[in-house]
Amino acid sequence: MDEIFEQFVHLASASATLIALYDADDRLRYANEAFRAAYFVEPDETPLWPDLMRRNFDLGRGTVIRAADFEAWLRSTLSRRGKIGFRAFETDLLDGRWFWMTETVQKNGWMLCIAGDITSLRVDERSVRQDRDQAIRASQTDELTGIANRRFVMARIEDMVGHVAARERGDGCLAVLDIDNFKYINDRLGHQAGDLVLRDFAHRIHQNVRRSDCFGRVGGEEFLLVMPGTTAGEAMVIVERMLALIRMSRPLADPVDFSYTFSAGIAACREADSVSDIYRRADQALYAAKMAGRNRIWADGGGQGAAF
Ligand code: GH3
Ligand code: MG
Ligand code: MG
Repeated sequence: MDEIFEQFVHLASASATLIALYDADDRLRYANEAFRAAYFVEPDETPLWPDLMRRNFDLGRGTVIRAADFEAWLRSTLSRRGKIGFRAFETDLLDGRWFWMTETVQKNGWMLCIAGDITSLRVDERSVRQDRDQAIRASQTDELTGIANRRFVMARIEDMVGHVAARERGDGCLAVLDIDNFKYINDRLGHQAGDLVLRDFAHRIHQNVRRSDCFGRVGGEEFLLVMPGTTAGEAMVIVERMLALIRMSRPLADPVDFSYTFSAGIAACREADSVSDIYRRADQALYAAKMAGRNRIWADGGGQGAAF
């Protein structure tokens, strides 16, 4: 076995195929020479994926990014990166090469990326395929905030419920997050200020979402956080941290001291759960949090987190 493994590593490091391994925090832990050359990574470097992409974007090299601004591209990509077991897509580099990239995610969060050069393949159909990928991206992204939309996040609940039912993964939690008194914010400060608050909320929370979790906007000022492989206690800590963060936010220029809060309900996945079962229990917990005075988090059946 050791000999086979040695052969494998030796061949992988010399292959023209791009090979990279990221850990659960999205830090590059292994990359072969072909990958390092394509993305300008030094042999001893282990950058985080977003940092690597940003650095290459700033220096005008690496991945071609077709978006108005880099941060919007990053947000939309991170909203979907590493959240399903397997993904495959076409990607191109500023040096003119095209790659067929696959991402395989292990249950512990490590991700293997393998990309083969397809520069010479079906060039004539490329714009059709690009349009299709763009359409898929749009169909999974919320327009106002740029994070995952209802369709994408509901499918991740479906995945989690399926894994728990099949006993592939014991735990899993769903949190429903709803901004407090949002109608009042809109009425008092205008719809545009309301939109700014929605974006502020989505972007701040998004920055604190683990790669294995999925955060999306389901409509209005209601958001979902799907946390596979997470206990109710862990979920409570995660969402409490988010609430502490939002309380500190001052997103408006006028009035500068404007602040806001949210309430959340958390439900843990049960083996017999359907998507609507777990969603209903999380929603009931949210209702209890609202009734108890807002600006707090309730767990289904487990009561309240540390409010204030
Ligand atoms: P609660 O604390 O109980 O959640 O009260 P709330 O006022 O936040 O909740 P409610 O459901 O009564 O009001 C939600 C408001 O959100 C009503 C709607 O006009 C507004 N809204 C929905 N979508 C958008 C949007 O995209 N932009 C803005 N600015 N407002 C929106
Ligand atoms: Mg609300
Ligand atoms: Mg609401």
